This record gives sequence, structure tokens and C-alpha cells, in this order.
Amino acid sequence: MNADELAQIDRAHFWHPFTQMADYEPLVIERAEGCTLYDVEGRAYLDGVASLWCNVHGHRHPKLDAALREQLDRVAHTTALGASNVPAIELARRLAAIAPSGLEHVFYSDSGATAVEVALKMAFQYWRQRTDPRPRKSAYVAFTDGYHGDTLGAVSVGGVERFHAMFAPLLFETLRLPAPQTHRLPPGVTNETACDYYLAQAEELLRREHERVAAVVIEPLIQCAAGIVTHPPGYLRGLRELTRRYGVLLIADEVAVGFGRTGRMFACEQEDVSPDLLCLAKGLTGGYLPLAATLATDEIFAAFLGPYESSRQFYHGHTYCGNPLGAAVALASLDVFAEERVIEQLPAKIARLEEHLARIAAHLHVGNIRGRGLICGIELVRDRATGEPFAWGERRGHRACVEARRHGVLIRPLGNTLVVFPPLAISLDEVDHLMLAIEQSIDPAVA
Ligand SMILES: *Cc1c(COP(=O)(O)O)cnc(C)c1O
Repeated sequence: MNADELAQIDRAHFWHPFTQMADYEPLVIERAEGCTLYDVEGRAYLDGVASLWCNVHGHRHPKLDAALREQLDRVAHTTALGASNVPAIELARRLAAIAPSGLEHVFYSDSGATAVEVALKMAFQYWRQRTDPRPRKSAYVAFTDGYHGDTLGAVSVGGVERFHAMFAPLLFETLRLPAPQTHRLPPGVTNETACDYYLAQAEELLRREHERVAAVVIEPLIQCAAGIVTHPPGYLRGLRELTRRYGVLLIADEVAVGFGRTGRMFACEQEDVSPDLLCLAKGLTGGYLPLAATLATDEIFAAFLGPYESSRQFYHGHTYCGNPLGAAVALASLDVFAEERVIEQLPAKIARLEEHLARIAAHLHVGNIRGRGLICGIELVRDRATGEPFAWGERRGHRACVEARRHGVLIRPLGNTLVVFPPLAISLDEVDHLMLAIEQSIDPAVA
């Protein structure tokens, strides 16, 4: 099939996610190498979105490719229901070893959304089955503009109006906290007082409602899908202390920020926090295959143990739980983290990114730049002095991304915020290319 035929069939039969198919312009990728994607016409694009926040070590990493091939020579899939497989066992041990302390038990699923569903249901069942049961704990606390995936439980705790409002009648009730921010602070709140201000709101809610709250669900440090909304330093740690004090579980959704993105292996490490449940997906396999994990503490795990007749087991599972191919490539990804000292190399890349951002920040229509590590959002505004945004429908962010493609860079916007989220393997030269292309794309987009 030639490029035109592919594009035509793409539009006719492949219904794309989060995509208005009426004006969808196909971009058909054929192959990739390192951080570069090639389309069917041979055009090259730097993968500035890490193939939607999941690619870690670049595409076609020899070690990951080999691990997948070797596992393929043994078995591609076998069930985890009452049975096991070699790479998934080894991966569970490795994840427990590198995760924040106390998370010893790994429940596999296949996407970020399912990792969150698992955590929500585990928390619910835990409160009903522990030695001192609390059957009133049925509600969840989550954040405005939070995003946890698109299945209905994950949407219930999600808070992005534009994605979620349509499905409101299908959702369970969630108690909502305002997204803690470091920009657009409420009147009277400064960067120095923001952390205390938002923690006071969390405390007020927990004090009032803790008896019916099963868990608080948070994206640690950065609410990515909200438009790279960064939390004030200290907020996560403060929230951990509050959830302990009020007897509420803390679910950390590190689906986006896990695996090195913020400069540490897990974002929770930045504030020395161990959640009760930890959700991992996107970067888990280095961005190769759909595999997810929900890690739980001994205390939660113990509440599910008992004689068979007590029916205490976790009645939840997915056909491809603990898929051996996914587990094998995830193990290889963890090996690469160690062998190539991936985390140790991040500070130089982050510093280079920040040099570019300092320049871009001076642009007349850049209202705000937020981020941490190799995650960053560049918000375009109509008026920098007042912070007045561009109207949503003007699609300024989208226009900048279309322009960036002409400079050989693939990025995606969230509204009028340009999201920079490259593979950790990006080189310093590639950081330069990425950021210069983005800079050159702003003028045409805001004109
Ligand atoms: C992407 C994302 C999810 C959903 O992951 P899927 O694999 O797309 O289901 C959940 N939580 C966060 C924080 C995410 O960024």
C-alpha cells in the first residue's frame, strides 16, 4: 500500500482516540530508531512526546528488542489466574525492590486506567476485610483536573471537565480538592504560602469526611494531563502525613511521572513518600508493550488472605495479567536503567532543557512554563500581562504542533499548552533540536 492508500483506509476504518475524525490528518509512522520516528514517506520526526509519555530508552533499543525476541522463543502469553510465569515473577521482585519502601506486592494489569481501577477496588475491599473493618469507607478524594485514565472508575476520580462531563451520570461520587498549583494562585496566596494553603483545604475535607473516605488519589508532583500542573513543593509529603493522621489510604498514580521522568526513578522519592498503593504503566516496559502494575503494602495484601471459603481474594483480573512478553521487556528496561546509568545522566539533560526554557520564557505570548525533570509545559496566552488565555477553539497549541512537524519534531498540545515529554534517552543535541523547533513554532501559531 502506498502512503495515500494507507491514509485513506486509516480515515475510513481506524477510529483514533481523543481525535476529531472529521478533520483528522493522518500521520503514518512506519519505523523508528532511537528518538526518531519515520513516516511512510521517509520523513523524520524527533519523538518529543515519547510516543505519548511512555517511551524511555528510545525506540528499537537493542537490549529491549533482544529481550522480547528471547521471550518470544519461549512463550508469548500464558494465564496468571492461579498460575505464573518466569519473567513476571522476576519483575514483581524487582519492582518491589526499587519502589518506595513498603510496597511488596505487585498486581499486574495492562494500562494506566486498569492500574488505577485495581487500586480503587483494592482500597475498597481492604477497608471491608481488614481485622477492624470500616465498611463506611466508600468514597474517594481526588483533584480538580486530575486524570487517571478513561475507564469509568478512573473517570470517576478524574476531573478534566472536557473529557469527563459527558459521562457524569455514569460515575460514582468523588470528593474534590482543588488542584494544588504554583501558577494562577488564588488571591492572597503566594508561592511561599501555597503549600500550606492547599494542605489546609485537604485537612479540612479529611477532618470532616474521613470516616467515609477509602482513599485519596493523587498524581504525585505533576498533574500531567491537566496541562502540566505542578504542585507546590512539600504538598505530597504533607498529604501523606494527613492521610496517615486521618486513617485514609494514599493512592499514588505514577503512570506518567514514574520511571525517571521527574529526575528520580519515582516522583514519590522526591518527597520521601511511600504511598499505600502505587500505580505504574506507561514507562514500565520502556514504552514497548501495554503492561501495568499496582503495588500494595503488606497490610493491604494481608486483608485479602484467608481460607478459600471466606471468599476474601481479590475478585479482579485481566486476561493478559502479567503477560510474559511485557514482563520480559520491562525487566530489560530496568537493566538498561542500571547499565546505562540513565537516572545519573538526567541532570545534564534537564539543565540543557532549562537553558532553552529560560529563552523561550521571554516570548511575548508565553504566559507560563511549568515542569520538573524532563516534563515541561509551555503555555501560550493572548496577553502575558493579564494572563488572558487564547480561546480554546482557536487551537493555538495545535497550530504550534503542526508547525513543529515542519521542523521535524513531533509534540502534542494540551489546550494551549505545548507539552515537552521526550524519551529519557534524548541526547543533548536532540534537546537542542526539540527546543529550537518549538521556539520557531510559537510565532506562526500566535500570529
Ligand atoms: C496516561 C495516564 C493514565 C492512563 O493510562 P492508560 O494506559 O492510557 O490507560 C492514568 N494516569 C495518568 C497519570 C496518566 O498520565
